[in-house]
Amino acid sequence: MANLLWLQGGACSGNTMSFLNAEEPSACDLVTDFGINILWHPSLGLELGENLQKLLNALTSGQMPLDIFVFEGTVVNAPKGTGEWNRFAGRPMKDWVSDLAKVASYTVAIGDCATWGGIPATAPNPSESQGLQFLKRQHGGYLGAAYKSKAGLPVINVPGCPAHPDWITQIVVAVATGRGADLSLDEFQRPKTFFTSFTQTGCTRNMHFAYKVSATEYGQRKGCLFYDLGCRGPMTHSPCNRILWNRQSSKTRAGMPCMGCTEPEFPFFDLAPGTVFKTQTLMGVPKDLPQGVDKSGYIKLTAAAKAASPAWAENDIFVV
Ligand code: SF4
Ligand code: SF4
Repeated sequence: MANLLWLQGGACSGNTMSFLNAEEPSACDLVTDFGINILWHPSLGLELGENLQKLLNALTSGQMPLDIFVFEGTVVNAPKGTGEWNRFAGRPMKDWVSDLAKVASYTVAIGDCATWGGIPATAPNPSESQGLQFLKRQHGGYLGAAYKSKAGLPVINVPGCPAHPDWITQIVVAVATGRGADLSLDEFQRPKTFFTSFTQTGCTRNMHFAYKVSATEYGQRKGCLFYDLGCRGPMTHSPCNRILWNRQSSKTRAGMPCMGCTEPEFPFFDLAPGTVFKTQTLMGVPKDLPQGVDKSGYIKLTAAAKAASPAWAENDIFVV
Protein backbone atom coordinates (compact mmCIF):
# COMPACT_ATOMS: atom_id res chain seq x y z
CA MET A 1 0.00 0.00 0.00
CA ALA A 2 1.53 3.33 -1.09
CA ASN A 3 0.30 6.55 0.48
CA LEU A 4 -0.32 9.31 -2.05
CA LEU A 5 -1.09 12.94 -1.26
CA TRP A 6 -2.09 15.39 -4.02
CA LEU A 7 -2.06 19.13 -3.34
CA GLN A 8 -2.79 22.05 -5.62
CA GLY A 9 -1.10 25.46 -5.70
CA GLY A 10 -1.62 28.19 -8.31
CA ALA A 11 -3.63 26.15 -10.77
CA CYS A 12 -6.77 25.91 -12.88
CA SER A 13 -7.46 22.28 -11.88
CA GLY A 14 -6.87 21.14 -15.46
CA ASN A 15 -4.51 18.38 -14.39
CA THR A 16 -7.00 17.16 -11.80
CA MET A 17 -9.62 16.97 -14.56
CA SER A 18 -7.14 15.12 -16.73
CA PHE A 19 -6.27 12.68 -13.91
CA LEU A 20 -9.94 11.92 -13.25
CA ASN A 21 -10.38 11.08 -16.96
CA ALA A 22 -7.52 8.58 -17.06
CA GLU A 23 -8.28 5.22 -18.63
CA GLU A 24 -5.09 3.15 -18.67
CA PRO A 25 -5.03 2.89 -15.73
CA SER A 26 -7.95 4.90 -14.35
CA ALA A 27 -7.95 6.78 -11.04
CA CYS A 28 -10.12 3.95 -9.61
CA ASP A 29 -7.64 1.32 -10.84
CA LEU A 30 -4.94 3.05 -8.81
CA VAL A 31 -6.88 2.20 -5.66
CA THR A 32 -8.37 -1.18 -6.54
CA ASP A 33 -5.60 -2.77 -8.64
CA PHE A 34 -2.40 -1.05 -7.57
CA GLY A 35 -2.97 -0.59 -3.85
CA ILE A 36 -2.54 3.18 -3.84
CA ASN A 37 -4.03 4.87 -0.83
CA ILE A 38 -5.09 8.37 -1.90
CA LEU A 39 -4.83 10.13 1.43
CA TRP A 40 -6.19 13.41 0.12
CA HIS A 41 -6.85 15.13 -3.20
CA PRO A 42 -8.49 18.53 -3.81
CA SER A 43 -11.49 16.95 -5.57
CA LEU A 44 -11.64 13.63 -3.73
CA GLY A 45 -10.44 14.33 -0.20
CA LEU A 46 -12.99 14.08 2.59
CA GLU A 47 -11.13 15.84 5.40
CA LEU A 48 -11.66 19.52 6.01
CA GLY A 49 -10.38 22.09 8.51
CA GLU A 50 -8.72 20.63 11.60
CA ASN A 51 -8.99 17.06 10.33
CA LEU A 52 -7.02 17.98 7.22
CA GLN A 53 -4.42 19.81 9.30
CA LYS A 54 -4.06 16.72 11.50
CA LEU A 55 -3.48 14.55 8.44
CA LEU A 56 -0.89 16.91 6.99
CA ASN A 57 0.86 17.23 10.35
CA ALA A 58 0.97 13.44 10.70
CA LEU A 59 2.80 13.32 7.38
CA THR A 60 5.24 16.16 8.01
CA SER A 61 6.12 14.77 11.43
CA GLY A 62 6.86 11.33 10.01
CA GLN A 63 4.07 9.71 12.05
CA MET A 64 2.52 8.53 8.78
CA PRO A 65 4.70 7.69 5.75
CA LEU A 66 4.29 9.75 2.59
CA ASP A 67 5.26 7.61 -0.38
CA ILE A 68 4.18 9.88 -3.22
CA PHE A 69 3.71 13.63 -3.00
CA VAL A 70 1.96 14.93 -6.10
CA PHE A 71 1.82 18.67 -6.66
CA GLU A 72 -0.29 20.46 -9.27
CA GLY A 73 -0.01 24.20 -9.89
CA THR A 74 2.69 26.72 -9.14
CA VAL A 75 4.26 27.47 -5.83
CA VAL A 76 2.90 30.96 -5.15
CA ASN A 77 5.36 33.20 -3.31
CA ALA A 78 3.45 36.52 -3.49
CA PRO A 79 3.27 38.93 -1.88
CA LYS A 80 6.96 39.60 -1.35
CA GLY A 81 7.97 36.00 -0.82
CA THR A 82 5.44 35.33 1.97
CA GLY A 83 3.12 33.00 0.02
CA GLU A 84 0.11 34.58 1.72
CA TRP A 85 -1.78 34.77 -1.58
CA ASN A 86 -2.17 31.01 -1.48
CA ARG A 87 -3.04 29.90 2.04
CA PHE A 88 -4.08 26.32 2.67
CA ALA A 89 -4.98 24.49 5.86
CA GLY A 90 -3.94 27.39 8.06
CA ARG A 91 -0.63 28.42 6.50
CA PRO A 92 0.93 29.39 3.17
CA MET A 93 0.81 26.45 0.76
CA LYS A 94 4.50 26.94 0.03
CA ASP A 95 5.34 26.02 3.64
CA TRP A 96 3.39 22.77 3.34
CA VAL A 97 5.27 22.07 0.10
CA SER A 98 8.66 22.54 1.81
CA ASP A 99 7.74 20.26 4.70
CA LEU A 100 6.05 17.55 2.64
CA ALA A 101 8.80 17.43 0.02
CA LYS A 102 11.29 16.70 2.83
CA VAL A 103 9.45 13.57 3.98
CA ALA A 104 8.19 12.26 0.61
CA SER A 105 9.76 9.16 -0.90
CA TYR A 106 8.92 10.56 -4.35
CA THR A 107 7.80 14.03 -5.39
CA VAL A 108 5.94 14.31 -8.67
CA ALA A 109 5.10 17.63 -10.37
CA ILE A 110 2.06 17.35 -12.63
CA GLY A 111 1.43 19.90 -15.38
CA ASP A 112 3.34 22.93 -16.58
CA CYS A 113 2.58 25.11 -13.57
CA ALA A 114 4.12 22.63 -11.13
CA THR A 115 7.03 21.74 -13.42
CA TRP A 116 8.21 25.10 -14.82
CA GLY A 117 5.67 27.71 -13.76
CA GLY A 118 3.56 27.64 -16.93
CA ILE A 119 1.15 30.49 -17.60
CA PRO A 120 1.09 31.92 -14.03
CA ALA A 121 4.89 32.40 -14.09
CA THR A 122 4.81 34.25 -17.41
CA ALA A 123 6.13 37.81 -17.14
CA PRO A 124 5.30 39.91 -15.20
CA ASN A 125 4.47 36.95 -12.92
CA PRO A 126 2.43 38.88 -10.32
CA SER A 127 1.94 35.80 -8.13
CA GLU A 128 5.75 35.31 -7.95
CA SER A 129 5.12 31.76 -9.11
CA GLN A 130 7.75 29.05 -9.46
CA GLY A 131 7.70 25.43 -10.51
CA LEU A 132 8.86 22.90 -7.94
CA GLN A 133 12.36 22.52 -9.36
CA PHE A 134 12.44 24.81 -12.41
CA LEU A 135 11.42 28.31 -13.33
CA LYS A 136 10.92 28.03 -17.05
CA ARG A 137 14.25 26.62 -18.32
CA GLN A 138 16.20 27.65 -15.23
CA HIS A 139 16.98 24.79 -12.86
CA GLY A 140 16.25 25.46 -9.19
CA GLY A 141 12.65 26.52 -8.78
CA TYR A 142 11.08 26.54 -5.34
CA LEU A 143 12.79 23.45 -3.90
CA GLY A 144 16.23 24.29 -5.29
CA ALA A 145 18.45 22.50 -7.79
CA ALA A 146 19.92 20.14 -5.17
CA TYR A 147 16.56 18.77 -4.00
CA LYS A 148 16.14 15.01 -3.94
CA SER A 149 13.25 13.09 -2.45
CA LYS A 150 13.93 10.35 0.11
CA ALA A 151 14.20 7.78 -2.70
CA GLY A 152 17.10 9.82 -4.14
CA LEU A 153 15.34 11.22 -7.20
CA PRO A 154 14.79 14.86 -8.08
CA VAL A 155 11.22 16.00 -8.71
CA ILE A 156 9.72 13.82 -11.44
CA ASN A 157 8.30 16.29 -13.94
CA VAL A 158 5.21 15.33 -15.93
CA PRO A 159 4.53 18.53 -17.90
CA GLY A 160 1.63 19.46 -20.16
CA CYS A 161 -1.19 21.96 -20.10
CA PRO A 162 -2.69 19.69 -18.99
CA ALA A 163 -0.64 16.50 -18.85
CA HIS A 164 -2.25 13.58 -20.65
CA PRO A 165 -4.28 11.46 -18.17
CA ASP A 166 -2.27 8.30 -18.84
CA TRP A 167 1.10 10.01 -18.43
CA ILE A 168 -0.04 10.89 -14.90
CA THR A 169 -1.44 7.54 -13.81
CA GLN A 170 1.29 5.46 -15.45
CA ILE A 171 4.03 7.38 -13.68
CA VAL A 172 2.19 7.17 -10.36
CA VAL A 173 1.81 3.41 -10.80
CA ALA A 174 5.49 2.99 -11.73
CA VAL A 175 6.51 4.76 -8.53
CA ALA A 176 3.92 3.03 -6.33
CA THR A 177 4.91 -0.43 -7.53
CA GLY A 178 8.58 0.07 -6.73
CA ARG A 179 9.79 0.85 -10.25
CA GLY A 180 10.62 4.49 -9.50
CA ALA A 181 14.35 3.80 -9.66
CA ASP A 182 13.93 2.49 -13.22
CA LEU A 183 12.56 5.79 -14.45
CA SER A 184 15.00 7.42 -16.78
CA LEU A 185 14.65 11.20 -16.76
CA ASP A 186 15.81 13.73 -19.35
CA GLU A 187 17.63 16.99 -18.61
CA PHE A 188 14.31 18.56 -17.55
CA GLN A 189 13.50 15.59 -15.31
CA ARG A 190 10.77 14.35 -17.63
CA PRO A 191 10.37 10.56 -17.93
CA LYS A 192 12.09 9.64 -21.19
CA THR A 193 9.50 7.00 -21.95
CA PHE A 194 7.04 9.80 -22.74
CA PHE A 195 9.21 12.78 -23.63
CA THR A 196 11.89 11.58 -26.02
CA SER A 197 9.93 11.59 -29.28
CA PHE A 198 8.24 14.66 -30.73
CA THR A 199 4.58 15.59 -31.10
CA GLN A 200 5.30 15.20 -34.80
CA THR A 201 6.11 11.51 -34.31
CA GLY A 202 2.98 9.78 -35.58
CA CYS A 203 1.31 12.95 -36.86
CA THR A 204 -0.94 12.18 -39.84
CA ARG A 205 0.28 15.36 -41.54
CA ASN A 206 3.92 14.35 -41.85
CA MET A 207 3.70 13.95 -45.63
CA HIS A 208 2.34 17.47 -45.91
CA PHE A 209 5.22 18.65 -43.74
CA ALA A 210 7.68 16.84 -45.99
CA TYR A 211 6.27 18.43 -49.17
CA LYS A 212 5.74 21.84 -47.60
CA VAL A 213 1.99 21.87 -48.13
CA SER A 214 0.51 24.26 -45.63
CA ALA A 215 -2.83 24.20 -43.83
CA THR A 216 -4.30 27.68 -43.86
CA GLU A 217 -7.30 27.22 -41.55
CA TYR A 218 -7.95 25.42 -38.27
CA GLY A 219 -9.66 22.09 -38.71
CA GLN A 220 -8.59 21.79 -42.35
CA ARG A 221 -7.88 18.15 -43.03
CA LYS A 222 -5.07 18.60 -45.52
CA GLY A 223 -1.82 20.39 -44.98
CA CYS A 224 0.76 20.81 -42.25
CA LEU A 225 0.21 23.38 -39.50
CA PHE A 226 3.90 24.29 -39.16
CA TYR A 227 4.31 26.75 -42.03
CA ASP A 228 1.54 29.25 -41.21
CA LEU A 229 -0.37 28.25 -38.08
CA GLY A 230 2.49 28.04 -35.60
CA CYS A 231 2.58 24.28 -34.98
CA ARG A 232 5.46 23.38 -32.67
CA GLY A 233 5.17 19.63 -33.32
CA PRO A 234 8.70 19.24 -34.75
CA MET A 235 10.38 20.77 -31.68
CA THR A 236 8.11 19.65 -28.83
CA HIS A 237 8.84 16.52 -26.84
CA SER A 238 5.55 14.72 -26.30
CA PRO A 239 3.88 11.45 -27.29
CA CYS A 240 0.61 13.21 -28.28
CA ASN A 241 0.43 11.38 -31.62
CA ARG A 242 1.53 8.03 -30.14
CA ILE A 243 -0.65 7.97 -27.03
CA LEU A 244 -3.77 9.58 -28.41
CA TRP A 245 -6.14 11.77 -26.41
CA ASN A 246 -9.44 10.05 -25.64
CA ARG A 247 -7.84 7.08 -27.41
CA GLN A 248 -8.66 8.59 -30.78
CA SER A 249 -7.26 12.01 -31.56
CA SER A 250 -4.71 14.73 -30.97
CA LYS A 251 -4.52 18.45 -31.59
CA THR A 252 -2.81 18.09 -34.93
CA ARG A 253 -5.14 15.29 -36.07
CA ALA A 254 -8.04 17.62 -35.34
CA GLY A 255 -6.38 20.42 -37.30
CA MET A 256 -5.09 22.51 -34.42
CA PRO A 257 -1.42 23.39 -33.99
CA CYS A 258 0.66 21.97 -31.17
CA MET A 259 1.48 24.86 -28.82
CA GLY A 260 4.51 23.16 -27.33
CA CYS A 261 2.94 22.76 -23.92
CA THR A 262 5.42 20.17 -22.63
CA GLU A 263 8.42 22.48 -23.01
CA PRO A 264 9.71 24.82 -20.28
CA GLU A 265 9.15 28.00 -22.34
CA PHE A 266 5.43 27.42 -22.70
CA PRO A 267 3.57 29.72 -23.33
CA PHE A 268 5.97 30.81 -26.06
CA PHE A 269 6.67 34.48 -26.78
CA ASP A 270 4.94 35.29 -23.47
CA LEU A 271 1.58 35.28 -25.27
CA ALA A 272 2.40 38.60 -26.99
CA PRO A 273 -0.42 39.63 -29.37
CA GLY A 274 -0.06 37.94 -32.75
CA THR A 275 2.20 35.14 -31.55
CA VAL A 276 -0.38 32.47 -30.76
CA PHE A 277 -1.30 30.05 -33.57
CA LYS A 278 0.81 32.04 -36.00
CA THR A 279 4.22 31.01 -37.26
CA GLN A 280 6.75 33.66 -36.29
CA THR A 281 9.07 34.33 -39.19
CA LEU A 282 12.11 36.40 -40.04
CA MET A 283 12.62 37.10 -43.75
CA GLY A 284 10.16 34.31 -44.53
CA VAL A 285 11.98 31.69 -42.42
CA PRO A 286 10.36 30.42 -39.19
CA LYS A 287 12.16 31.77 -36.11
CA ASP A 288 11.89 28.36 -34.46
CA LEU A 289 12.98 25.54 -36.74
CA PRO A 290 12.56 21.78 -36.30
CA GLN A 291 15.08 20.58 -33.74
CA GLY A 292 18.52 20.10 -35.26
CA VAL A 293 17.74 21.92 -38.53
CA ASP A 294 19.62 25.16 -39.25
CA LYS A 295 18.43 28.08 -41.34
CA SER A 296 20.35 27.28 -44.51
CA GLY A 297 19.40 23.59 -44.25
CA TYR A 298 15.77 24.59 -43.86
CA ILE A 299 15.84 26.85 -46.92
CA LYS A 300 17.42 24.13 -49.08
CA LEU A 301 15.09 21.44 -47.75
CA THR A 302 11.85 23.37 -48.24
CA ALA A 303 12.86 24.63 -51.70
CA ALA A 304 13.54 21.04 -52.80
CA ALA A 305 10.36 19.76 -51.10
CA LYS A 306 8.20 22.36 -52.79
CA ALA A 307 9.76 21.62 -56.19
CA ALA A 308 9.29 17.86 -55.75
CA SER A 309 5.77 18.04 -54.31
CA PRO A 310 3.38 15.71 -56.17
CA ALA A 311 -0.07 16.98 -57.18
CA TRP A 312 -1.85 14.67 -54.72
CA ALA A 313 -0.10 16.36 -51.81
CA GLU A 314 -2.45 19.33 -52.34
CA ASN A 315 -5.54 17.12 -52.05
CA ASP A 316 -7.56 16.22 -49.00
CA ILE A 317 -6.62 12.58 -48.81
CA PHE A 318 -8.51 11.87 -45.59
CA VAL A 319 -11.86 11.46 -47.38
CA VAL A 320 -13.99 8.58 -46.15
S1 SF4 B 1 4.38 20.41 -37.97
FE1 SF4 B 1 2.59 19.86 -36.74
S2 SF4 B 1 0.94 19.43 -38.22
FE2 SF4 B 1 2.87 19.44 -39.34
S3 SF4 B 1 3.48 17.29 -39.41
FE3 SF4 B 1 4.51 18.21 -37.64
S4 SF4 B 1 3.16 17.88 -35.89
FE4 SF4 B 1 1.97 17.47 -37.76
S1 SF4 C 1 -0.17 18.50 -29.03
FE1 SF4 C 1 1.36 19.91 -28.21
S2 SF4 C 1 0.17 21.52 -27.16
FE2 SF4 C 1 -1.20 19.75 -27.47
S3 SF4 C 1 -1.02 18.54 -25.58
FE3 SF4 C 1 0.48 17.70 -27.04
S4 SF4 C 1 2.41 18.80 -26.56
FE4 SF4 C 1 0.73 19.95 -25.64
